[in-house]
Amino acid sequence: MAHLKGKVALVTGGGGVLCGAMSKALAEHGARVAVMDVKLEAAERVAEEIRSQGGEATAIAADVLSRESLEAAREKIHEVFGLVEILINGAGGNRPEATASPDRPFFAIPPEAIQWVFNLNCLGTILPCQVFVPDMIQLQRGVVINITSMAAIRPLTRVVAYGAAKAAVANFTQWLAVHLAQNYTPKIRVNAIAPGFFLTEQNRYLLVDEAGNPTPRGQTILAHTPAGRYGEPADLISTLLWLVDDQSAFITGAIIPVDGGFSAFSGV
Ligand code: NAD
Repeated sequence: MAHLKGKVALVTGGGGVLCGAMSKALAEHGARVAVMDVKLEAAERVAEEIRSQGGEATAIAADVLSRESLEAAREKIHEVFGLVEILINGAGGNRPEATASPDRPFFAIPPEAIQWVFNLNCLGTILPCQVFVPDMIQLQRGVVINITSMAAIRPLTRVVAYGAAKAAVANFTQWLAVHLAQNYTPKIRVNAIAPGFFLTEQNRYLLVDEAGNPTPRGQTILAHTPAGRYGEPADLISTLLWLVDDQSAFITGAIIPVDGGFSAFSGV
């Protein structure tokens, strides 16, 4: 079990479904959690829930695509909690306009939609590292966890921009792990979690129809997931706590699937 007493953790996208659950788990294990989201109310809800359970949390409004906004957030976090030792890069997502469909063939996907998805997932992971890893260098220890996807391991049909952007996140995870260990200290570790399929707002339009039944894509995913179900946010927590634990000192540059076996199954 992770002992996080007094460690400062920052979770981007912390107001969301998966990263809200991660924020709560870090707080339950003693971390002081800065719940950051572009939607302040969403971050407030998570922070309030943590405080009501006796944990320490503060909600921070910031945009992972703005260095200025991240730097302002860093000042606030330093005032309230101190230097950031754990960074979870959870902000990310896809949008229908960047997804190929019969109505919107690949050839007609607008560049702005592709750019939007690349920025949010890829730049939105790199910029927080640029702004917050210097705290870890000052502390001479730290943990970064990026959130990638099954789409990074093998491309998934339709989600062309999302898959490419999450593959870039996986690549960057390995790059940063090596860069920090070689140039600063091996005591700053960088890993990624690659969740399988979790039913959330960003993918609901692909997986469930208007009547609430699984779409053919949803049925295919479930048939291809040996666990036979979608993931629940709680399914990510054991991996999160393992990766942030000091005892995981030899684990860096790893991309860990939490996918009910999806990435292991050939389909036969
Ligand atoms: P979510 O939409 O519930 O959470 C994402 C959060 O990020 C939202 O609260 C949103 O307001 C915030 N956000 C968006 N843009 C931001 C910005 N510019 N700056 C700061 N915050 C911003 O989604 P989720 O399903 O909980 O996904 C969390 C992460 O997990 C994402 O990176 C997603 O790509 C990844 N993921 C999800 C699944 C899944 O099945 N749901 C699978 C694999 C990976």
